[in-house]
Amino acid sequence: MVEKNTEYTVKIESVSSDGSGVGHIDGFTVFVPYTAEGDIVLVKTEDVQKRFARARLLEVVTPSADRQDADCPTYGQCGGCQLRHIRYEKQLEIKQCAVENAMRRLGGFKDFTVDTITGTKRTSRYRNKVTFPVGQTGGETVCGFYKPKSHDIIPLRDCVLCDSLNAQIIDAVLNYMRDNCVHAIRRIFTRKSFATGKMMVVITSTVRSLPKESSLIKRVRAVSDKVAGIILNVNNKGAPFGGENVTLWGKSVISDTLCDTEFIISPDSFFQINPEQTEKLYRKVLQFAEIDEDTTVMDIYCGIGTISLCAAKKAKSVIGVEIVKQAIEDAKENAKLNGITNAEFYAESAENIVPGLIENKKMVDVVILDPPRKGSDKKTLTAIIKSGAKRVVYVSCNPATLARDVKFLCDSGYKISGSAVFDLFPHTCHVETVIKLEN
Ligand code: SAH
Repeated sequence: MVEKNTEYTVKIESVSSDGSGVGHIDGFTVFVPYTAEGDIVLVKTEDVQKRFARARLLEVVTPSADRQDADCPTYGQCGGCQLRHIRYEKQLEIKQCAVENAMRRLGGFKDFTVDTITGTKRTSRYRNKVTFPVGQTGGETVCGFYKPKSHDIIPLRDCVLCDSLNAQIIDAVLNYMRDNCVHAIRRIFTRKSFATGKMMVVITSTVRSLPKESSLIKRVRAVSDKVAGIILNVNNKGAPFGGENVTLWGKSVISDTLCDTEFIISPDSFFQINPEQTEKLYRKVLQFAEIDEDTTVMDIYCGIGTISLCAAKKAKSVIGVEIVKQAIEDAKENAKLNGITNAEFYAESAENIVPGLIENKKMVDVVILDPPRKGSDKKTLTAIIKSGAKRVVYVSCNPATLARDVKFLCDSGYKISGSAVFDLFPHTCHVETVIKLEN
């Protein structure tokens, strides 16, 4: 019987999809974050469920050969990274295993193996986007990251996954707040264009008018001439997203390039956070899609039209569907920017619009879908099946929902004919997968 709040010595046998090490105490499964396969560790159980327990690492008794120096002062506190203490080649293996296990266990694809996994040499400063919450701790204004599952802020100026300019931007905003007794700023969000080096700074405030706004602008601009736009996001609802965006200075959008196509990106629009790996991912999507000048394509969950417009350059026509209105505005702008005239975009939820679009247009040769973590839904997937599309290319950031949805498509006659895994998020447990299905 495994007891709560008790110390045990455990041998770690593998690493699960959330990055926790997995071992056994008298045959009972225990998950231990920040451990590596082969470690012998002293742990303390914190939560004992019917079929498994969670425990905290107290001491590494014998380290695994896969361990490396995590090389980050807040590792294990901020929760952003889960695999920093494991050498990179092994991280890739863990991600490949996570996808294969999900496909086998949740999708029922018994002998599923991933065809290729694409890693990267750039394992730091690969992120183009970051959000830092701002708040009060002990009467002081601080900025950093939330502690996992809490609203306590761990002060941090420089995350090694992100651009080093962030530290100075944080300093500039915090100094402005202190000097002007401002308490209304809730977060700082930056997005950098890897193509141009320019950066957009979005400051979320609960009020529209900040004292000495010009001083704030001056201080942030003084950080670097790479700052291309400063936007005030007025959000008094307490929700992490939404609110009105007011451009205080400079550009209201940022532009970046992927697969020789230029994109403008609004503050609220989704854009993949690792452009270098995203290009490799998109090229695989296009290869799997086998598009030529007679092909009609539907890109569901299209964001600002990144995949749609890369596909449109080769296809007869493309339809893009996306729920965020501003992202669709961006997609239409992006089509114009690249002289693309064979792409149509719809701002609506997939489940509401895809069945009707397929009913009316009928002809779709290729469907590409890239849903959020919760995956697609039965209405959308049923419509895809009805369309009779010859190929479906499914891009996923969550192996569990991918396995569920691919199973649904395969139960209606599709067959898996290709798979590729891409590491867009080194040091974290996140992974992107592309599956090719044919009818
Ligand atoms: N393919 C794009 C975006 C992928 S992220 C790219 O590579 O950049 C997933 C996108 O799905 C987000 O833009 C999100 O806003 C959108 N989304 C979420 N739920 C949706 C729904 N129910 N219907 C349509 N789009 C949705």
